[in-house]
Amino acid sequence: MGKKTTFNISKNDNFSEWYSEILAKAEVTDLRYGVKGFVVIRPWGARIIDKMYRIYESALRATGHDPAIFPAVIPEDNFKREASHVKGFSSELFWLDKKQGEDKLALRPTSETAFYDMYKIWIRSYRDLPMKMYQRANVFRNETKATRPLIRSREFHWIESHDVFASKKDAEMQVQDDIVMTEEVMHKIFGVPFLPMRRPQWDKFPGAEYTIGSDVVMPDGRVIQQPSTHLISQHFTKAFNVKFVDEKEKEKSPWMTCYGPCMSRMLSSVLSLHGDDSGLVLPYTLAPVQVVIVPFDGDGVKSAVDDVRAQLLKEYIDVKVDDSDKRPGEKFFYWEMKGVPFRMEIGEKELAKDEVSLFIRDTKEKISVSIRDLPETIKNLGAEYDERLIARADENFGSSVVDCASKSDIKKALNSGKVARFSFCSCEKEGADCAEFVEKDLQARVMGTRGDVDEKAKGKCLICGKKANAVVYAGKSY
Ligand SMILES: [Zn+2]
Repeated sequence: MGKKTTFNISKNDNFSEWYSEILAKAEVTDLRYGVKGFVVIRPWGARIIDKMYRIYESALRATGHDPAIFPAVIPEDNFKREASHVKGFSSELFWLDKKQGEDKLALRPTSETAFYDMYKIWIRSYRDLPMKMYQRANVFRNETKATRPLIRSREFHWIESHDVFASKKDAEMQVQDDIVMTEEVMHKIFGVPFLPMRRPQWDKFPGAEYTIGSDVVMPDGRVIQQPSTHLISQHFTKAFNVKFVDEKEKEKSPWMTCYGPCMSRMLSSVLSLHGDDSGLVLPYTLAPVQVVIVPFDGDGVKSAVDDVRAQLLKEYIDVKVDDSDKRPGEKFFYWEMKGVPFRMEIGEKELAKDEVSLFIRDTKEKISVSIRDLPETIKNLGAEYDERLIARADENFGSSVVDCASKSDIKKALNSGKVARFSFCSCEKEGADCAEFVEKDLQARVMGTRGDVDEKAKGKCLICGKKANAVVYAGKSY
C-alpha cells in the first residue's frame, strides 16, 4: 500500500500554494461564497478563532478593560471630524445607501469615531479615568489590492480596545503594556514571535501621534502586520470634544490609545508558522480537538473509551472519539491533516497492559502511557507540546533579521526572504524619499524602528548617504 501524502506541494518549496491548499483541505475557510475579499470561516477555523478570542479577552479583562458592543455603522459626520482620519480611510469605506432624512452611514473600518462620540458623554472628571473598553467586532475595509484569505480581507474579525487617560505618560505606558500583551498572548501562547516596530511618520495610523505595529515574518520571508497599538493625537481627541475636569477643577483634554489584535489575521500566522507537509499543526491550547480517540475492535474497548472520554471531558480537555467506519489509516491521515495534537489509540492489546498509545502530531512519535491519570498526563504533554512549537517558531524567527552594511546587502537580504536591518536617515518626514526608494526599487517596506528598545544609529543612511538617525528594519510585505 502506497503511503498517502497530504500535499503535492511542500511548505518550504511553495508556501503560497501550501497555504491555499491547507485552508481548503483542513476545512478552515471556504472561498466559494464568491464575494471578493470575503471568506466563510468553517467550523474548524471558527473554533480556533473562538479560543483565540477567549484567551485575548480574558487578558484584556485582567488588565482592567471592560467589554462593550458598538453599532457596526458610523455616521459620515463622525469621520469628518478629524481630517487625517477621514483622509486615511476615505478610499476604504463601504457606504450604505442613504435613506432620506437620515445621516449617511458607513460600515465601520475601525471604531475610534464611534467610541469617542460616547466617551464625550461618559467622561466628565478625572475620577472616570482611566476608562478602558474593548469590543469583539468585525470591521470592513474596501481593499482594492489582491486579497488573500485571512491575510488580506475586506472583512476581518478582531478586538479593538480604546483607552482614555488623564496624562500622556499614562497613555504611553498603555502603549508599552499593549506590546507586553502581544508578547504574552500572541507569542507565549499562540507561538507567534514578532518584531515590535515603531512606524515611520508616513505610515502611522490615520489620526495617531505614533503607531507601534507587531511584524511577523511568515515562512516565505514576507512580513505581515499583526496587532498594532496607537497613541492617538490630541488633535483627534479635541476634534471629538472629549474633556475631563482634573483635581483642581481645570478642564483638560485626555490622552487616548487604541490597540487592535485581529484574530482572523493572527490565525493565518498561527497556521503558517506551525504547519508542515502533513497539514496543520495546531497549538494544544488552540486546537478545537486536543485529543482524538481511535478505538479498535475488541472486548471491553467501548467501555474503556467511554470512560477515558468522560475523564478527559471532566478536566475540560477537548476530546473526540472517531468511531466512524473509515479504515484506521484514513482516520490517522485525516486527524493529522487537521492538526490535532494527540491521537489516542485504544484496543485490547493496550488495555491488557493498562495503557493507551499516543501519537504526537508535531514530532510524529508514538508513545505508550498509563491509562491511569490520563487527564494529568495529557495536560503535561500538552504544555510540553506548546513549548516545542514556540521554540521551533523562535528558532526560525531568530535567523530572519540580517544586519546590512550596504545597499547591495539590503537587496541581497530582501531577495533571500530576510528582514534587513540598517542605518537610515530619518523616520520623520525627511526620510520619506529614501523609504520610497526602498519601496520602488527594492519592492520592500520600511517597517520602522524598534518600538520596545532603543537602537542607536551610527554612520550614514545606506540609501542617501546623509547622517543616519535611525536603525530601521525593512521587509517584503503582503
Ligand atoms: Zn536616507
